[in-house]
Amino acid sequence: MTPASPQVLARESASVRPPSIDALLRGAAAQDLVASYGHTAVKEALRAQAHLSRTPDAPTQEDLAQAIIDASRESLREQFKPRLQRVLNLTGTVLHTNLGRGLMSQRAAERAALAAVHPCNLEFDLAKGKRGERDQLVEERLCRLTGAEAATVVNNNAAAVLLMTAALCARREVVVSRGELVEIGGAFRIPEVIRSANAKLKEVGTTNRTHARDYVEAVGPQTGAFMKVHTSNYRIEGFVKSVSERELADLAHAQGLPLLVDLGSGSLVDLRQWGLPYERMVSESMADGADVVSFSGDKLLGGPQAGLIVGRKDLIERIRKHPLKRALRVCKMG
Ligand SMILES: *Cc1c(COP(=O)(O)O)cnc(C)c1O
Repeated sequence: MTPASPQVLARESASVRPPSIDALLRGAAAQDLVASYGHTAVKEALRAQAHLSRTPDAPTQEDLAQAIIDASRESLREQFKPRLQRVLNLTGTVLHTNLGRGLMSQRAAERAALAAVHPCNLEFDLAKGKRGERDQLVEERLCRLTGAEAATVVNNNAAAVLLMTAALCARREVVVSRGELVEIGGAFRIPEVIRSANAKLKEVGTTNRTHARDYVEAVGPQTGAFMKVHTSNYRIEGFVKSVSERELADLAHAQGLPLLVDLGSGSLVDLRQWGLPYERMVSESMADGADVVSFSGDKLLGGPQAGLIVGRKDLIERIRKHPLKRALRVCKMG
């Protein structure tokens, strides 16, 4: 340690007695801060700034008190400022998972804000004047857009896949191609989701090639469904073979099984009309015979975070009645 310079020693000896934190707290300035940030946080901030009494810039006790209050106000402002901040996405990735994913339209965001600050008919049927279901707000439109018989909504697509598997395949086997055992964003992995749904994964085929016979040969008394998963974030190229949804739906139905599809982004419109790359549409999955399809509300759809599930009425009904449905419920702003 280097010895303190004579100058510093002189300053220290000139420092005034530190004000009492309790006295400061009772003052009008601190009370203003208490009204905004609460007693505990303000007291902590004042204590943390008490070291200012050792600086040479506060010659009188009053100045010192003011300096401590000012520094505390600044530190509280920093501590309490909103953590979620607007940023510019210059990455070139439009739907950036780390930068907020899909962006809502101004109009949709305004409607969501209205639902946030006013009472609304979230679970109330205004026509019948009695209790309603959240799903009723969107079901008809989702059916019209996708050609499905029924629809339900949960918190996100990961929840949708978990729920449809739990509701339709618990204690049974779900047959999935080895080429589609995807991991999305680290935490969502198809094998683990299926296990969490209390179902058993039955892998078929190989990483690059899966044939119709692989699915058929996997069927046994324990089989609950075939599942097709959209490989959203990777592509296998070269010597490859996969079974189309149409063919897989026919195979599943011939065995008396449903075909479940995790479509990932899913599109409601044909993106090629704007010169964009083809993305499979939910209506195509429905037309090809899929029994239940799940997709994200905040990827391509550009809506709030949500997982949309559409499909056969009897299966959607079972999904809706499953206890996890409540646990994975969508927010009213969705
Ligand atoms: C993105 C994605 C998910 C997860 O959807 P979230 O809305 O992020 O929960 C699941 N499956 C596939 C194939 C996906 O692309």
